[in-house]
Amino acid sequence: MTASTVVEPVAGFHGLGLSQTILDAVTKAGYKKPSSIQKAFIPRVLAGSDVMGQAQTGTGKTAAYLLPYFERWQPSADRDPTALILVPTRELATQVCEEAAKLAPHDRIRVLPIYGGKRMDGQVQALRKGIDLVVGTPGRILDHLSRSTLVFHKVQYLVLDEADRMFDLGFRDDIRRILKQCPDARQTMLLSATMPPDVLNLAKRYMRKPIVHIQIAPKKVTVEKIRQSYITVDKENKYDALLRVIEREQPRQCIIFCERKIGAHRIYTKLCGERKRVAAMHGDLEQNQRERIMKAFKEGKIVYLVATDVVGRGIDVMGISHIINFDLPMDPENYVHRIGRTGRMGKDGVAISLVEPEEGKELTRIEDFINKLITEEQLPDFEAFIPRVKVEQEPKDVKPVYGQRSRRYSQRL
Ligand code: AMP
Repeated sequence: MTASTVVEPVAGFHGLGLSQTILDAVTKAGYKKPSSIQKAFIPRVLAGSDVMGQAQTGTGKTAAYLLPYFERWQPSADRDPTALILVPTRELATQVCEEAAKLAPHDRIRVLPIYGGKRMDGQVQALRKGIDLVVGTPGRILDHLSRSTLVFHKVQYLVLDEADRMFDLGFRDDIRRILKQCPDARQTMLLSATMPPDVLNLAKRYMRKPIVHIQIAPKKVTVEKIRQSYITVDKENKYDALLRVIEREQPRQCIIFCERKIGAHRIYTKLCGERKRVAAMHGDLEQNQRERIMKAFKEGKIVYLVATDVVGRGIDVMGISHIINFDLPMDPENYVHRIGRTGRMGKDGVAISLVEPEEGKELTRIEDFINKLITEEQLPDFEAFIPRVKVEQEPKDVKPVYGQRSRRYSQRL
């Protein structure tokens, strides 16, 4: 009799060559499945190759190069940095450090952001204590190098992130000067959204061959027929803005997306007081409740469906004319999933996002991800919407009656 081995399918991050300690850190960060760039990058970097990747923000590129570094990390006696991540902007430096804090397997790994606009002496003090990983912009790093408050003789792991952007911002000479300070015996990774000749020349000059050039195709975003816009509105006025938008747009059927179950439930409850044919779909509902709501939505009996991403993704209904993002999705990929619920089968669709003034960064990440600017529009006039609902002419108890009807309706589904 021969023994047979059952080969388990590779699931999640297992199978990329990461140790249990790093896998535990990944689990703690809440990542369940590696992104395409992570699948492509991590095993090759762990094998010691210099790797180039064409990938934009939102693809998980940061974890793709941080995890192999954490895997390699070893304590060193003098704590001169062993890794350098060169980035074009302070925003990216901050983001990379946040991702590092999220994924670091323990707190003995010291990470320091180095960019201009911050006092030099604070950075010098931190450097004196010992740093493993420096994440910085070229200008300030050169300042430190020229004062010898930073030395790169031990750098074995070098990442050039958003290389094309660094050239756009005029860092060509700075990059070269910094790279000359790093030992030749090192591993170099390069990430760039585009691969113009400048970037390719840099790779040719400073990366060891063979270079594995991984092209992560930009996500096919089939949302051309969807009219996308956003409205800037303070948090406390968002619900009012939602009412104005739906009054103006008169959607045939729409999904109103919220980030959290509790938010979805709150909007659902309030909207029941204003509109008929409202239902909610979120993870707290029983499976059979969800199915009944889904069926009614498909049959056009529900006009306003307040949903979270978890359940929103699975909705495949032809009649959806509008998607309203009451909350912006945290993950840009979810934006595409959400708005893809409308504009089905070549029909036109509309996607309107309510954006809080301090959410500019999130909006930009979405725009980068879909490779398209989203048009800003003004909040519809309150006056324009009053005559239609005739609030002042209706008896006072109209709202609760609508609410009760809607609630009963939803419960019956
Ligand atoms: P990045 O492209 O590196 O800027 O990452 C974009 C966002 O995706 C960040 O907020 C990361 O924390 C998150 N992220 C990265 N990898 C994963 C993953 N495998 N699963 C879920 N989220 C991820």
